[in-house]
Amino acid sequence: MNRILITGGAGFLGSHLCDSVLKKGADVVCIDNFFSGSKDNIRHLFSHPYFELIRHDIIHPLFLEVDEIYHLACPASPLYYQHNPIKTVKTSVMGTINMLGLAKRIKARILLASTSEVYGNPTVHPQQESYWGNVNPIGIRSCYDEGKRVAETLMMDYHRQNNVDTRIARIFNTYGPRMALNDGRVISNFIVQALKGEPVTVYGDGSQTRSFCYVTDLVDALMMTMDKQGFEQPVNLGNPAESTILEMAERIIKLTKSSSKIVRKPLPLDDPVRRCPDISLAKEKLGWTPKIDLEEGLLETIAYFRERLGLNKK
Ligand code: NAD
Ligand code: UDP
Repeated sequence: MNRILITGGAGFLGSHLCDSVLKKGADVVCIDNFFSGSKDNIRHLFSHPYFELIRHDIIHPLFLEVDEIYHLACPASPLYYQHNPIKTVKTSVMGTINMLGLAKRIKARILLASTSEVYGNPTVHPQQESYWGNVNPIGIRSCYDEGKRVAETLMMDYHRQNNVDTRIARIFNTYGPRMALNDGRVISNFIVQALKGEPVTVYGDGSQTRSFCYVTDLVDALMMTMDKQGFEQPVNLGNPAESTILEMAERIIKLTKSSSKIVRKPLPLDDPVRRCPDISLAKEKLGWTPKIDLEEGLLETIAYFRERLGLNKK
């Protein structure tokens, strides 16, 4: 039986990955310090015979025996990663060194959950893996962006120097059930605001774009990336369907049948203007394309938040 370590397994993406890996018949060890994740995301797995949870902070070394490591631990929402930026850098850098050291010792394959943020505020559109990015090294997003860039550097150096079997998944904005209610990311914010009938907060003029991928598609892609032999180069994973933030606000108000009005708030510093993945490499090497369209994914996510807010009882 394959033993799989999932760091950040109590988070949004990690908890869905725990579900899918267990369904494949593997043994899962989930590591989390619950900084931005929650036991609620994995409570349904507590009685599963092949699921194990360890409260652990990955900036400290970890000694385990597993076959594969999915390394997701790191806060992903600007609200959370800017709360303690020094800790965010430690998590990305020291945490990734610890996980790579573990992978090296036990000869496990390791996948890093990297991010489209390594492209910063891109000057190339859509973004291909060959683009080196346009990142501010000293801004308020740098703890996350530069942290992940160093994490990628470490992955490649452990591969070249120590022959560690590495994978780098550059994940673009992903959404779905189990995003935290107070997460601060755009889709969860807009849905919660619309369901509560509160103003929907568009930052700036809302013309900035993002490309949103539904969580089950993304988890499939992570597992396909892990399973692909000899695939050390970074790969973009995301849904290329691009939307402005203003369009997203209008769409969510419509789908929730909300009476909420849109209000403008200042655009956060260094907020990227456009972001859209070129997923040719994932298509070619993995045969992967996202299946769930935006409307279907949003309806699932709205249903989840409706339940979380207790609105189904009314
Ligand atoms: P999340 O915040 O829901 O999950 C991160 C998990 O890591 C949480 O459970 C948190 O408690 C845990 N964690 C944080 N620091 C830790 C530490 N020092 N030790 C142990 N556990 C720690 O975020 P998510 O959306 O599930 O993102 C998961 C991964 O995917 C992150 O690495 C993120 O950078 C990457 N990613 C996500 C997206 C997205 O849109 N969701 C996009 C790009 C990249
Ligand atoms: N955003 C917004 N209102 C919100 C939350 C976010 O307009 O209530 C904007 C934010 O400024 C950014 C986009 O939505 O332009 C995506 O933000 P998110 O934090 O979800 O992801 P990231 O910026 O890391 O891609």
